[in-house]
Amino acid sequence: MIDFHAHIDLYPRPDQVAKKCIAREMDVLSVTTTPSAWKGTSELVAPGSRIHSALGLHPQIAHVRKSELELFDSFLPATIFVGEIGLDGAPEFKSHWADQLKVFRHILKSCSNVGGRIMSIHSRRAAGMVLDELSSFPLSGIPILHWFSGEKRDLDRAITQCYWFSVGPAMLTSAKSREMIINIPRERILTETDGPFAKIAGTSMMPWDVSVVVPQLAAIWKITDREVEMQLNNNLCSLLKQHRQS
Ligand code: MN
Repeated sequence: MIDFHAHIDLYPRPDQVAKKCIAREMDVLSVTTTPSAWKGTSELVAPGSRIHSALGLHPQIAHVRKSELELFDSFLPATIFVGEIGLDGAPEFKSHWADQLKVFRHILKSCSNVGGRIMSIHSRRAAGMVLDELSSFPLSGIPILHWFSGEKRDLDRAITQCYWFSVGPAMLTSAKSREMIINIPRERILTETDGPFAKIAGTSMMPWDVSVVVPQLAAIWKITDREVEMQLNNNLCSLLKQHRQS
């Protein structure tokens, strides 16, 4: 089971959630929203564990946390995973657009300087602009577009660029998203929950709730659940291999 975008540090008991993920032998990308949260989050698990802590600075709080970019750069050599980063074009965050751009560009440049990172990327209502920025920093690493909801032309562009996508239960409730998944090469898809932010029927998803995506992907891809699991595990291996070779 793979949850490649979960905010473990934002659950009421992060230590308990991490323990349960380990007991279930899950692979998790534990994203953070501020550089100052990264160290504590990475210390929830032993080094070498299958829970990877990503260093992030969330676009929705870029304007209040931009002073942490220096801290971001100081931690960056210690991890190959970056996220959550990106841009958010919703009206309530558009007023801080200049700060969002400054933070996102700084991070992409820093990632380029250290040889590239695996990056979990937020692009709500800003897909085209996120893709523009990513193409300006081709050495920043491997982008995984998390919960992608852009238009078809943006999707096509991201697919052409060989970017990755992480898809989750909340995303799959929409017919438009299911349609989108048909078009994405299945070799470049990972699963995620975006818990505890993402909810189904009013309840925050736990990382292991990602399992409900498997039969949904099986239906979309017309293969068995077991084959979906094998595909996803192979995808994660190939992502890590692609990073090592870059
Ligand atoms: Mn998130």
